[in-house]
Amino acid sequence: MKYAILSDVHSNLEALGSVLQEIERDCPDRKIFLGDAVGYGPDPNGVVEPLAAYCDVCLAGNHDWAALGWTDIQYFNPYAQEAILWTQKVLTPTNWARLKGLRLEWTEGDLRGTHATPKEPDQWHYLFTLSEAGRNFRCFTEKLCFIGHSHVPLFLERDPSGTIHIYPKGEALTLREGYRYIINVGSVGQPRDGDPRACYALYDSETQAIQLKRVAYDIARVQEKMRREGLPGYLVERLVRGR
Ligand code: ZN
Repeated sequence: MKYAILSDVHSNLEALGSVLQEIERDCPDRKIFLGDAVGYGPDPNGVVEPLAAYCDVCLAGNHDWAALGWTDIQYFNPYAQEAILWTQKVLTPTNWARLKGLRLEWTEGDLRGTHATPKEPDQWHYLFTLSEAGRNFRCFTEKLCFIGHSHVPLFLERDPSGTIHIYPKGEALTLREGYRYIINVGSVGQPRDGDPRACYALYDSETQAIQLKRVAYDIARVQEKMRREGLPGYLVERLVRGR
């Protein structure tokens, strides 16, 4: 079975469109979206609908919950706050209801997915260190957990003795028998690893191969829409830097 896993679209319709086109060429059996459909970008209504229609599984992220008023945006930086308040104003009742229906976790056989971390998925923790990784591996039983949230792709591997290895900016990996994994699939709509291209992951359960794919998209067009909507300049600029 082939899986395409994508996360953190953040109202970036151009990035989503280019990624969905590329995914069509991959011919996956299942399409899994790990949350943060909205926030930051200019097309909240434009992305929620195709995500709901195209993906077999759609999860909620902290920005989706913030748009619904379920997460206190005091903890967001001022730019993110401004973008969420704007998103709340423009989101249609239909798309609001779609976001409301998103769940926090997905499991399927040996696989799990959640937006932030397997530990307390509704608390939106970040996972950067080995000690956090250790705690998180104890919070699920599947072989493999896909996450997003940091917008930075990352492969974490736990060997049978419990030692954890980090493969930062990993682009491809073949899963080993008896090992377990947490894989951050990066971000479609606002990458922060220095590569501005949209990012998603492909996983083949037959060959046990995981691959990160990067897709160029029309950044200038998104920036133009963001300026037109009066979204914060910092958010407009960071798309080109991929930071
Ligand atoms: Zn995000």
